[in-house]
Amino acid sequence: MKHTVPCPCESGDAYEQCCKRWHLGEPAPDAAALMRSRYTAYVLGLTDYLLHTWHPSTRPASLQDEAGSQPLKWLGLKVVQHEATGSNQAIVEFIARYKLNGKAERLHEHSRFVCEHGRWYYVDGDFIGD
Ligand SMILES: [Zn+2]
Repeated sequence: MKHTVPCPCESGDAYEQCCKRWHLGEPAPDAAALMRSRYTAYVLGLTDYLLHTWHPSTRPASLQDEAGSQPLKWLGLKVVQHEATGSNQAIVEFIARYKLNGKAERLHEHSRFVCEHGRWYYVDGDFIGD
C-alpha cells in the first residue's frame, strides 16, 4: 500500500492528488477547489500562494504579521455550499475549525470568488454568526 498524506482540506484524497496541484501552479478548476487549496495553504503556511490567489483589489500587502502573532492551529474544514453566482463568480460557504490560545473556535464564512483569465481568486467574505 502506497504511503500517502491525507490532504488537510479533508477532501478524503491524498495531498498529492488534491490541493498540491493548485499549489504548484495549475489553475484550480472552480471556486470550491480554490477555497480548499487556500485552507490547505493556511495549514501549511504557504503565504505566497495565499497572496497569489487573493484578488488584487482586496489583497493585503503581507500576511507575515498575522501568521507571526497568532498561535493559531487549524483543525478542519467543511465546505457547506458552493454556488455559481455568474459565469465568472461564485460563493463558497464554509466552516473552518481552529484552536487559538488553547480554545477551539469556528470560522463560518461566505466567501466571494471571481475567475479572471482562467484563474479563480478569493475576493472577500462575510462572517456568519452561529
Ligand atoms: Zn485538498
